[in-house]
Amino acid sequence: MAELTLDNVSKVFVEDDGNHIVAVDDVSVDIRDGEFLVLVGPSGCGKSTTLRMIAGLETITDGEIRLGGEVMNDKEPKERDIAMVFQSYALYPHMTVRENMAFGLEESTSMGDDEIDERVSSAAEMMGIEELLGRKPRELSGGQQQRVALGRAIVRDPAVFLMDEPLSNLDAKLRSKMRTELQRIQEDLGVTTVYVTHDQTEAMTMSDRIAVLDDGRLQQAGTPLECYHEPANEFVAGFIGDPSMNFFDVEVQGNQLRAADFTYPVSDETLQEIGDRTTLELGIRPEDVTLSTDGATGEHDFETVVDVVEPMGDENNVYLTFDTGGEPDEDDETFVVTVGGMQQVEAGQPVTAHIPEEAVHLFDAKSGESVK
Ligand code: ATP
Repeated sequence: MAELTLDNVSKVFVEDDGNHIVAVDDVSVDIRDGEFLVLVGPSGCGKSTTLRMIAGLETITDGEIRLGGEVMNDKEPKERDIAMVFQSYALYPHMTVRENMAFGLEESTSMGDDEIDERVSSAAEMMGIEELLGRKPRELSGGQQQRVALGRAIVRDPAVFLMDEPLSNLDAKLRSKMRTELQRIQEDLGVTTVYVTHDQTEAMTMSDRIAVLDDGRLQQAGTPLECYHEPANEFVAGFIGDPSMNFFDVEVQGNQLRAADFTYPVSDETLQEIGDRTTLELGIRPEDVTLSTDGATGEHDFETVVDVVEPMGDENNVYLTFDTGGEPDEDDETFVVTVGGMQQVEAGQPVTAHIPEEAVHLFDAKSGESVK
């Protein structure tokens, strides 16, 4: 069993001047045997530090890391049955691809040459790099080097793969190809995988579950769709989804939510969820708003003006300003809506935005916790 458990794990770096930096703060997560978990979050949130603690490249200040129930805290990296793939590939320049792939096995096991050869051949086949085995890393493209780095991890047949932004040095097209390939290989091998990225598409498309970190703390661990549809808090709601969710400060007045530029009536059911809160953050995803030129006909329709249209091909990102009378100015609150690429909209055009109540998210103004 290769279940990986992080139990109240923290990492505090103490700088030379005595300053304490809490890089990872009390993180607990269970990564199931064979699961693909993606760690996401903004720069500096503690992703790499978490991965490095699992690998044994960084000591753990507090808490416990267990692999298959066995405590790993004081084990050397090579005793951990874990293979790590880095963004930089970290291949030995003086060795051929074959030697790079075989090196770890020769060093850390008493495996015979025949078995090593067999494993290298099978991993090379899996990664489609058989014809590169005699080359040196400098004779390879970036994409080929990354395949070798992955092949080297596969050869070891570890209990866990750790990957730190492995695709970020590749161009967009290759990245998307490797995403699918990596996912297929991980599924075929069934190896428990922790994958760090700040690329949302990678997180959403590759993972069984996403763990969202901010400021060293775990904000939510859930399937991509859970994090998207039921974000635990305002941070996750804003982080998952592209373009980001729109947020408005609102005050509760009777059955109305009053924002700077509009008033949004809500149902009794929503009022119950709001409870006695008086201020909230209203969130709406760009893809949940519809635009029409029919004029406002319902209580959740709002007159707006198109500010900018950003064509994305199959869809358009439309930036809108609430029409509060007079000429648009800097203080007008803007928000973004995603519409199909075929829908004709142009800058300056008055439109009606329909914001359906079932798609509206509400967050506690102070704690940021999800209310609805
Ligand atoms: P990025 O996406 O930019 O790689 P990250 O989420 O991987 O960021 P970490 O590299 O884990 O973040 O860093 C978390 C925090 O710990 C940051 O504030 C960073 O400056 C700090 N940190 C990391 N390594 C050290 C170190 N060796 N000494 C002191 N502080 C460190």
